Amino acid sequence: MTTESPVAETYVSSKRWSPTRPTALVIACSDGRLQQSVDDFLQNHLRITYYDRLYAPGGPGALASSGYELLRSDQFRRECTFLLTAHCVEEVVLIFHGAVSGEGPDEAACADYRRKLPGRSATEIEAQQRRDVADLLRPLFGAHPHLRVHIYRAEVAHSGEVRFVNLTVSQPESSGALSV
Ligand SMILES: [Zn+2]
Repeated sequence: MTTESPVAETYVSSKRWSPTRPTALVIACSDGRLQQSVDDFLQNHLRITYYDRLYAPGGPGALASSGYELLRSDQFRRECTFLLTAHCVEEVVLIFHGAVSGEGPDEAACADYRRKLPGRSATEIEAQQRRDVADLLRPLFGAHPHLRVHIYRAEVAHSGEVRFVNLTVSQPESSGALSV
């Protein structure tokens, strides 16, 4: 075993720390296979380049009470509520992910959903994700009436193409206190 000088391990970033907090919060899955597509989507479609992150297995699914891990979802909801209030978040982007409905590669399904819902097909997992959208909207974000909420599902095709499908527009509940 060799040891190197700690000084040699220090890297000084050319990017400066900013005292100004972002007003957007992105909640997405930890799955790094999507990272470049998510970054591209946020920057070039939503025009969001400066944002807080809540990245965890399942992304927004970690906030939903589906499955058997109720304590886990409660904990993530508390963490999310903390960020919304302490960081004065004005806009939140929720990104689920999986295969294109009925055709995408099976391995593109979210591993966290597979853990929560063992034995379910990709189609059944997608259906649960869409139910979780309704589960999330009112209970979690309804207490923040001025919060702008965007909900998407990153869908992987066999070609590797990633499509970001807007799930917000299909939610009638979103027309009330939640603006999108
Ligand atoms: Zn995932």
